[in-house]
Amino acid sequence: MLELLFLLLPIAMGYGWFMGRNSIKQNTHSEKQDLSIKYSTGLNYLFSNQQDKAIDYLIEALKVEDDTVEAHFALANLFRKRGELDRALKVHEHLVRQKHLRSEEKQQALFELGKDFLSAGLFDRAESMFLKLLKSKQFGLKSLSYLMQIYQSTKDWDQGVALKKAIIKTRDKKLMHTLANFYCELATSAFENEQFIEVLELLENALVQDPNSCRANWLMARIYEHHEQYEQACRCYQDIYHQDSEFFPDVIEKMQLCYTKLDAQDTFYKFIRKVYEETASTSTLICYVNHLESKHGTKKATDFILSALKRRPTIRGFKHFVKMQMSQSEQQTTSEHLDVIKELISAYINVKHRYSCRTCGFNSSTHYWSCPSCHDWEQLKPVRGLEGE
Ligand SMILES: [Zn+2]
Repeated sequence: MLELLFLLLPIAMGYGWFMGRNSIKQNTHSEKQDLSIKYSTGLNYLFSNQQDKAIDYLIEALKVEDDTVEAHFALANLFRKRGELDRALKVHEHLVRQKHLRSEEKQQALFELGKDFLSAGLFDRAESMFLKLLKSKQFGLKSLSYLMQIYQSTKDWDQGVALKKAIIKTRDKKLMHTLANFYCELATSAFENEQFIEVLELLENALVQDPNSCRANWLMARIYEHHEQYEQACRCYQDIYHQDSEFFPDVIEKMQLCYTKLDAQDTFYKFIRKVYEETASTSTLICYVNHLESKHGTKKATDFILSALKRRPTIRGFKHFVKMQMSQSEQQTTSEHLDVIKELISAYINVKHRYSCRTCGFNSSTHYWSCPSCHDWEQLKPVRGLEGE
């Protein structure tokens, strides 16, 4: 039924046009006759199920008048929604060819055509449409977003960075965040090629676009570590905590190494204690309990983890508690029993995902800077709750 209604849309458009045409007396009779032949031929093809031919004739017959432009857009968008991209393209191209359209309608036609090409995977053609619209008030921002989406898919980071001026002008936070990640991608390649000065310049650019980019600080810390500038590296890790505490559990180990190199473990554990009090994350709890155990003995560490787990139970925290019990147990049998429990918990944790995307909920055991599902940047973070942090 829906199919039939959909197929009748061009007929309705044609009828509207035809009636409209009839009311304008100055139209010549021969022109009308010619179009009505095309129109009825189109309908004949439609009813004999030759839809491609029908579309050609109907598009030709439905001359784009001011009052049918919207109907043309609606028809093409319906085609695109149904996955019939070649038909959507045909109608949009037909609209683009019309010389008498208003400026906004021309821009809309180019924009929709760009979206058709993008859906068809024809990135270069989509790109050329969106590039034409950068100065458009109505479509400039949307075109920039699509262009960045294209460059992200094709990994053309330089091309994206070339749009810097236009992106800054929009002051759009999401676009600036994307741009910062493009700089981070370039910085990662430069880092791999040991072009360290270039890396720093790229990261500074990233932080200008998005001062809250954890990724830029994470890379910056790697550079400092590489040059044994541990104090600066520690500052970067602290910045990461202040920028996004949910991402912090992944940098604890690296941060600990830097503070150890500086022989400043006390400062490190003071910071970890503060983070634990503020976030109650399991990674910080385990890190702090290890410190308590080595500095004040097992009893104090056990009391601490027990009261922490009572307040906020997590599987990883419980696994660590069992591990501590095993090392304290003097009886062989008890230790073996605890080992079975620990192995069982480990097996359970191993089948659980470590990261989840905060935008779309995609789960993964590996960390990605760009979510493989929704492509948002820096949204894959350690899972929270009973099975996570
Ligand atoms: Zn996602």
